[in-house]
Amino acid sequence: MKLETPEGEKTDQPAAARANRVRASVSDLRKWLRLQAAKTGATVVEIPSKDTTRACWKCAHVNRSSAPGTLVWTCESCGERWDQDENAARNIRTATCAKGKRP
Ligand SMILES: [Zn+2]
Repeated sequence: MKLETPEGEKTDQPAAARANRVRASVSDLRKWLRLQAAKTGATVVEIPSKDTTRACWKCAHVNRSSAPGTLVWTCESCGERWDQDENAARNIRTATCAKGKRP
């Protein structure tokens, strides 16, 4: 399988080099996603990450930071309990739909 750089070039990098590609920057990932979307006609919707973890998916209250490493939060406003990653995914889905796009 040939890899493709963000610039759209094909490469035959060895496995060790490909493993290092996982450490690409976020800007490289965004560039690659835009390139692939343009090729396939897909749409890339960018959602700001601010408060996606702390804002309650149920009531939208932005909770204060919890102790580092806390994965399960209880909303200070409505009492809903959620996993921070699942909560962020729900908030991103909601923001995507608010832009008139399908997640
Ligand atoms: Zn809440």
